[in-house]
Order: sequence, then structure tokens, then C-alpha cells
Amino acid sequence: MTLQLDNQHQSPLQPSKRGVIFCDFDGTITVNDNIIAIIKHFNPDGWEPIVEAIINQTMSIQDGVGQLFRLLPSSMKDEVISYALNQVQLRDGFAELLEYCKQQDIDFYVTSGGIDFFVYPVLEPFGIAADHIFCNGSSFEGERITIEWPNPCDEHCTNHCGMCKPTIMRRFNPEQYERMIIGDSVTDFEGAKIADLVFSRSHLSVKCDELGLAHTAFDTFHDVIHHLRKLKREESWA
Ligand code: MG
Ligand code: ZN
Repeated sequence: MTLQLDNQHQSPLQPSKRGVIFCDFDGTITVNDNIIAIIKHFNPDGWEPIVEAIINQTMSIQDGVGQLFRLLPSSMKDEVISYALNQVQLRDGFAELLEYCKQQDIDFYVTSGGIDFFVYPVLEPFGIAADHIFCNGSSFEGERITIEWPNPCDEHCTNHCGMCKPTIMRRFNPEQYERMIIGDSVTDFEGAKIADLVFSRSHLSVKCDELGLAHTAFDTFHDVIHHLRKLKREESWA
């Protein structure tokens, strides 16, 4: 028997379970990857090989991101923060998705490998509770910008994620929760593997295709809402 992979069709939601969404930030809620945008803009010596090593997976994300920010002096704090916030562009339909989740009693968590000084201010207008936002921290106390890692990998993950998405997802019992992930890059892949439902774009779609992981491609958050509505209809017909 040949296994037919229909990437557009994922199983309907299970009405007995509570829905929970884990949503990436950089390249997902925001159109761009903010860390890359910051580093490219300030262009400190030596950033390119670090980014290359992260992409080639010869360096962990935690080491790489830590090293990138150490290239910038803490004295640039205000400049870095205001540049980061000014270049942000939100993906369409984000406020509508949050509203839909509220209506449908779907819990919404932001699971971001981004840094607190841009993640929290960008999300501030949307009224997401602080305990529903997971990201990395930062310190401008030393001579160089230092990234802090309050959400490390648990004993099941050896990737040195920095902010470990599967670790957070594992806190939600799959017997009780329908776990959904929205993301765009390879850093979302470990979470995608344990999710019931995957919304993907860009590199995450490619990686899911390569490894035969069911996923729904999206461009805007309106697409995500549309698909969730469709699954909800299928569920009520089941
Ligand atoms: Mg991303
Ligand atoms: Zn991890």
C-alpha cells in the first residue's frame, strides 16, 4: 500500500480536547526575522559566519544568537531597540486570529526565539498576558549585549534551542490538549513533530515536505482562521 500524503488535509479537531496554539514570532507574527534585521542593519564585524553556522546547523541557535548580540556594545541599547521596533511589520490577520481564538476558547501562546526588548513591545497592543509569551531575555549591564535564556531545553531535547518550543509544548498533556503550532523555520520543526496540527510557511513547509510531516501552508493569519473554521465544521459533522 502506498502512503498518500495529503498535506492540505489534517485531522479534524477533537471536540473533547481544548485547543492550544503555539505561535512563533520572527517571520511568523512579524514578516521579517528581527534578529537578522538588527544584525544586518548594524553590521558588526564577524556576523556573517555566525549566521551561516546557525543556518548550516554547525552551531546551536543558543550559541549563535548569543554570539551575534555580543558583537554589539550595550551602549547601543536605545539605537538597537528603536531600530528593532521601527522595522517591524506584522503579518495580516494577527488581531483577527487572536479574536477567533478568544471566541473559540483556544489558548494562544507566543513561543519565540526572539528577544524580550522587541517581542513584548510589539505584542503589547494585543493584550496577550505576559505568562502566555515565551521568549529570550537580554541584559545591557555588561559592556556587550548579553542574551539570557529563561526557557532552556528539557531532558528530551538536545538541540540547545535557547528558547525550547517542544519543552513548553510538553507541559500541555496531549490527552487533554489539541496542540497546534504556527511557524516558519527549521527551529519550529521539533515542535511540529509533536503537534497535532501544523501551520507552516517558508523553510518549515519545505522541511515538513521533505520529511513527510502533515502540515497546512499559510500566508496570512486569515488562512489559518479559514482552515480552523473548516476543521470545526468537519468536527461538527463527524
Ligand atoms: Mg520564525
Ligand atoms: Zn530544545
